[in-house]
Amino acid sequence: MKIGFIGLGHMGAPMALNLIKAGHALSVFDLSADAMRTLADAGATLAGSPKAAATGAEWVITMLPAAAHVRAVLSGEDGVLAGVSKGVTIIDSSTIDPASAKAFAALAQANGNRFADAPVSGGTGGAVAGTLTFMVGGTAELYESVKPVLSGMGKNIVHCGETGTGQVAKLCNNLVLGVTMAGVAEAMALGEALGIDAKVLGGIMNTSTGRCWSSDTYNPFPGVIETAPSSRGYTGGFGTDLMLKDLGLATDAAKQARQPAYMGALAQQLYQAMSSHGDGKLDFSAIIKLYRHEGGEKG
Ligand code: NAD
Repeated sequence: MKIGFIGLGHMGAPMALNLIKAGHALSVFDLSADAMRTLADAGATLAGSPKAAATGAEWVITMLPAAAHVRAVLSGEDGVLAGVSKGVTIIDSSTIDPASAKAFAALAQANGNRFADAPVSGGTGGAVAGTLTFMVGGTAELYESVKPVLSGMGKNIVHCGETGTGQVAKLCNNLVLGVTMAGVAEAMALGEALGIDAKVLGGIMNTSTGRCWSSDTYNPFPGVIETAPSSRGYTGGFGTDLMLKDLGLATDAAKQARQPAYMGALAQQLYQAMSSHGDGKLDFSAIIKLYRHEGGEKG
């Protein structure tokens, strides 16, 4: 199928590459020339704008940082909606707030298009391996129609409910992730300060009740998990500023629902502190630097 793909960052680039591997013809756009080059080498057609990427496409997929970027890419003279054929479905896999997802669905509908929110979990590793989980919001029929396309990039394609509920699932998941990473970082740094070897402590945790994704796959202490961003200088993972954005979305949504989010709000402050210290581009597991710096960095 002909797919317009916009947003070729840490997640978007490997997702688009997997669609090419699955046999689809891609027309891609990103503001970064480097990102475009990688896709050109793999056989994608380079478009000069979101509009050009969407023109003639049977599906359009966006994978952008935040709602403001999605709005900019969809609307305007050079936007997707100006180029896309009527009846085409736009799938947004960015993590954004549920209210914006609903607003974009309404914009698409007014243009004669359908819109599915389909944020992902699984990280950059899942994007490369094609094993992402997609959380899809929209009608059951829309979900059935997007499933074959998303299967080229993921293993678990889950229908969450009406438009916006994919984003609800994503925000709730990332609330847990932000909190568990802070907890694991706190415990690993405490263990170090108290004199236990980090690998031993990590190993115990990962066969005990402290085990979670933040400890057994993405452990923030360097060297505990060789494939984790912590073992390569906190690069190439899920950026702190993106986690900060997601916790902001979660706490805002909690405010609107008049729900408490005690842990989410505290975690948000921790990632905010990291970002203010200039570490916003590092993987979010670098949160352990807050703890290791405070106690005097060891190793
Ligand atoms: P990223 O910052 O690496 O990539 C975003 C890309 O969008 C960049 O290449 C940027 O140039 C491009 N872009 C920005 N504005 C644009 C515009 N107007 N037109 C065209 N391109 C534009 O981000 P990422 O890590 O790939 O994350 C993308 C989304 O997926 C975010 O919403 C994030 O929260 C979510 N997410 C990320 C991860 C992860 O592990 N990185 C995991 C799950 C979900």
